[in-house]
Amino acid sequence: MRKPIIVGNWKMNLTHLEAIALVQKLSYRLESDVYDLCEVVVCPPFTSLRSVQTTIDSDKMKIDLGAQNVNENDKGAFTGEISAGMLKKLNCNYVLVGHSERRQHCGETNEETAKKVKAVRKLEMTPILCVGETKEQRENGDTTSVVENQVREGLSAIPKGDIENCVIAYEPVWAIGAGTPATIEQANEMIFHIRGVLNSLNSGTGDETRVIYGASVDPGNSKSFLSQDGIDGLLVGGASLDADDFSRLVLSAIK
Ligand code: PEP
Repeated sequence: MRKPIIVGNWKMNLTHLEAIALVQKLSYRLESDVYDLCEVVVCPPFTSLRSVQTTIDSDKMKIDLGAQNVNENDKGAFTGEISAGMLKKLNCNYVLVGHSERRQHCGETNEETAKKVKAVRKLEMTPILCVGETKEQRENGDTTSVVENQVREGLSAIPKGDIENCVIAYEPVWAIGAGTPATIEQANEMIFHIRGVLNSLNSGTGDETRVIYGASVDPGNSKSFLSQDGIDGLLVGGASLDADDFSRLVLSAIK
């Protein structure tokens, strides 16, 4: 049984005060039984994690906390970086790894994502491994091989039996922030492909692992993705910054 999961990636938005207000508004809009049917995760910037964590704890919210990145090392001279242990102590259950904006702007490689996935799993948090092709890669007919490599290499540092404890997010880079998502056919095709790759890594894992879609999801199109058998949830950027939009998205996962 793969429980649906809706993840909000707040990216580099909101002060810690604005972040507190957003999680409060979101929680207010979601009845407590929603969480029995769907996991709801917010990934604020590092500067807001502690404030959002204390808000979640003190108000006994069932929203899960996630981070947008992690350093693969335990500790040491890595100025500006954050370790998995620091995130664990803040009750983070999820960590985005290999988001396309980190691959694009920070040169993050598949090898680095593998180390990050390992660091996150070592502390029993759930990595959300983001994969997806650029426009150019799609136009060159490289989509399936690019995504296959990102999945294979990203999961290469953890035991095969642990893969099902990760979430894979298929996010076509050309559709992120574009206002126009991939078509349902494109999303289904790649998610089916990803499940095949997972099965080839460890038989049966393709059915056990949650694979979600992300890029230009909004409350108007979320249901069409979520109604697909192979799509277990959504990774949401822009629309996660609005409590009304994000709560409607979450509700579309369970209705
Ligand atoms: C993202 O960057 O993870 C994302 C899904 O962005 P958006 O929803 O804004 O396209």
